[in-house]
Parts: sequence; structure tokens; C-alpha cells
Amino acid sequence: MTILPTLAIVGRPNVGKSTLFNRLIGKRQAIVHDQPGVTRDRITGRFELEDGQPAALIDTGGLVPGDDPLGLGEQVALAIEESDVLLFMVDGKEGLTTADQRVWDELRMIAKPTVLVVNKSDTKAAMEGWGEFYQLGVDPVVLVSAEHGLGIGDLDDAVRALLPKVEAPIEDDDMPSIAIVGRPNVGKSSLINRLLGEDRTLVSPVAGTTRDPIDSVLEQDGRQYRLIDTAGIRRRSQVTGDAEALAVLFARRQIERADVAVLVLDASQGIRTGDLSIGGDAWERGRPVIVALNKWDLLDEEAREELEKDWPRLQEVLTEPARVNVSALSGRRIDRLLPAVDDVLERQNLELGTGELNRFFERQIARHSPPHNQGKPWKLFYTTQVSKAPPTFMLFANRTLKRSDPYRRYLENRLRETYDLAGVPIRLVIRKR
Ligand code: GDP
Ligand code: GDP
Repeated sequence: MTILPTLAIVGRPNVGKSTLFNRLIGKRQAIVHDQPGVTRDRITGRFELEDGQPAALIDTGGLVPGDDPLGLGEQVALAIEESDVLLFMVDGKEGLTTADQRVWDELRMIAKPTVLVVNKSDTKAAMEGWGEFYQLGVDPVVLVSAEHGLGIGDLDDAVRALLPKVEAPIEDDDMPSIAIVGRPNVGKSSLINRLLGEDRTLVSPVAGTTRDPIDSVLEQDGRQYRLIDTAGIRRRSQVTGDAEALAVLFARRQIERADVAVLVLDASQGIRTGDLSIGGDAWERGRPVIVALNKWDLLDEEAREELEKDWPRLQEVLTEPARVNVSALSGRRIDRLLPAVDDVLERQNLELGTGELNRFFERQIARHSPPHNQGKPWKLFYTTQVSKAPPTFMLFANRTLKRSDPYRRYLENRLRETYDLAGVPIRLVIRKR
């Protein structure tokens, strides 16, 4: 799994951030994320640098010093946290303002490679006065006009010069990556320490890298695993705010570069909404989830009964996930976790031949007839598997079926039962032909 180098455009309002964003991304590629509370105020797009290197770009939509830290400020802080290089934009037409200075005072503490982008170089004021921005002490400085597309090549050069410093350790090894996720204080760090035991080996970070310095490599029975410690990442981050909400956000980011998630729960607290959102996120992203019910040592008979009553809520989100009742404190059943990971990783690599797949669907359709729409039955023409991990199937039909359609659920469930895919996300893509 690799993730793209990420650039964030930051600066006070009206300096031209969105204009630059649109120029670099182009309307076509811009993706507006609409996940509530995460990227609401940010726009993320994908573009290519001149040498073809793909990168992600975030338009932070304004960093106003002194703004409500739980509003925009938190969103921006998160965007910055996720980024490798900052494009700190100022307005050459207006010249250096105290607001720019205050923005920089905040940014410099984060210590990420930064390019100072002096915008509006098409104006006389900018051309005459841009030297004053050197007072900020940011290096390099590039002069652009986002509106007129001037200086974009210089900006590209400056960014490319910074990227080698931030390149993540290449994750092209075969090692499965496991994200350890969960609400605060459920025991993620304790569990990781327990898993790693004495010989905690860190993936050596590339000098100056801002990424992944606290992934660890765990070796067991000759197999290596990369452990992604979201609690650790959260701890060293500059982002402040509601601890629980942040745990959800950090999990979401890290799950993307993991092959599988271990969702750690505090079993003594039963199943909480936060557990469901983190688990649901992983699932939506096509990652299988192993549930580690931690602090098992704290449960008495009554608490255990409570938990079992609650369990179906999680099961509904994750469709029969593997579950291990552990105690990071005592070490109870910690040795069951990696085998559960191996098992689900293997099962999600299922590959079905087209012949078998089509016979399978024919059988299911014969057993349970498809829904009608305006008198016409849903009709499946042909199915093929387009990828594995998560297993993804393309169904060509006379019309599509909504995600919530019970018939779609039926087909999905039958696939899951027949091919041993409990706890494995599968995707049906239904195309109208
Ligand atoms: P943001 O709030 O930082 O995202 O700023 P916008 O992208 O919305 O731009 C603010 C204003 O500056 C708009 O009126 C733009 O048309 C203007 N603007 C942006 N880039 C340039 C530029 O290169 N030259 C000039 N003259 N105006 C620009
Ligand atoms: P994180 O925030 O999810 O990384 O949680 P920590 O690993 O920091 O653990 C939070 C608290 O729970 C600490 O006080 C741990 O000692 C405690 N803890 C962790 N695992 C267990 C466990 O299995 N049993 C009990 N009783 N306490 C635990």
C-alpha cells in the first residue's frame, strides 16, 4: 500500500488559494469530500507534477488565526497534519500583513517543508513589493499568478525539490499492514506493546521524513507484519480537539494504507457508537476488521452478558467479523490475533473463475426470484470478478439495484456464505447494459 504525497494550500482568506487549487487540479479531477466533520471544509484533489509524480492537493479554505479551534481551525490543522508539504500562500498585491505573520507563526511550529507562494504577481504592486515577504524567513519563495497561470513551473520545481525529503519508506514489500484502531484508552498502545514484546523494531524513518516514523515491524513465525499505531500518531500530532472524534479521524487516515484493521474495544464498556463508526469506516473502505475485545480481565458475569447483548450491533456493521477476547494487561489470547489476521487476508484474496461465478448466480436467481420493476424482472446477463482484496464483482444487468435493495443483500449474503467470506468486505458493482 502506498499513499500519495500530499500538499496543502494554506493562508489567510482571499489570497487566492482556491484559484490555485482550481488551476492545479482542474474542475474535472476535483473531488469534494462530504464526510461530515472530516473534510467538510476542505477540498482534496489529485494532480500530477511535471515529472508525472501523482500527488494529492488540499485546499484548506482559509486559516484564520484566533478562529474557533473546534471549527475551521481544527479542519485546517488536520489537513496540515495529513500533508507532506505546505504551500503557504500570501497576497503580493496587498503585501505582507500581520495576519500572514500570525499564520506563519502557527505553521512554523509544525515544521513541515513549506514553500512560500506569493500570488497575484500579475499586479504591479506584487512585482514591486514581493521582496518584503522574505522577512517571514520561509525558503523557498516562488512568485505566481494563480489566476493567469504564471510561475506554476517554478512552483512545481520547488515542490519537487522538497518531495524526496518526505517520501515515505517504500511500502512495496509484501508485508501485510495492520492498522490498530479504536477509541481513546481502549488499550491500543498496550496491545501493540504486548504484540511487539521486547524486540520492538521500528521501521527506520528516512531522514527528515514526516511520515510513518512510528510504524513497527513485527516478526512472528518467519512472517513480518507492519503495525500502524494510530494512538502513537495521534499523540505526536499537533491537532487538538475532542479526543474521541480525533481517534475516528486518525483511524480513517491510517486505515487507507492498511490491508486489515484490528479494532480494539474496551470490553468493559460494551459497544459504543465510536467503535461502530471506526469499524464502519474500515469496512466502507474495503478493509476487513478483526475485533479485539480488550480488557477481558475486567469483565464479570454481568458485564459479559451485557456485551453479548450488544455484540450484534457490531456484527451488523462488519458482517460476522473474527473476534478475539484479549487482555493486553495479562496477555490473554494475544497470540490469537495474528492468526486471525492471516486468515482474513487469505480469504479476501479469493478468486472466482467466470464460469463458476455465473453458475453460482444462476443458482441463486433460480432459488429466489429477482424483484420486478414496472412488471419487468431484474435480469442478470453476466458476472465477472474484477479484483480481489476486497473481492469485487461486476454484474451486468438490465438495471442496477440500490445498495439497500434486499435482493442485492441476498446475493451478497449468499456469496459470503458460499465462499467463506465472513468478515470480508465484498463489492458488487451492478452495471446497466
Ligand atoms: P482564497 O480565499 O484564498 O481561496 O482566495 P480565492 O481563490 O477565492 O481568491 C480571492 C480573490 O483573489 C478572488 O477575487 C480571485 O479572483 C483573486 N485572485 C486569485 N488569484 C489571483 C491572481 O493571480 N491575480 C489576481 N490579480 N487576483 C487573483
Ligand atoms: P490507547 O489510548 O487505546 O492506546 O490505550 P492505552 O494502551 O494507553 O490504555 C489505556 C488504559 O487502559 C491504560 O491505563 C492501560 O493500562 C489500560 N489497559 C490496557 N489494556 C488493558 C487490559 O487488557 N486490561 C486492563 N484492565 N487495563 C488495560
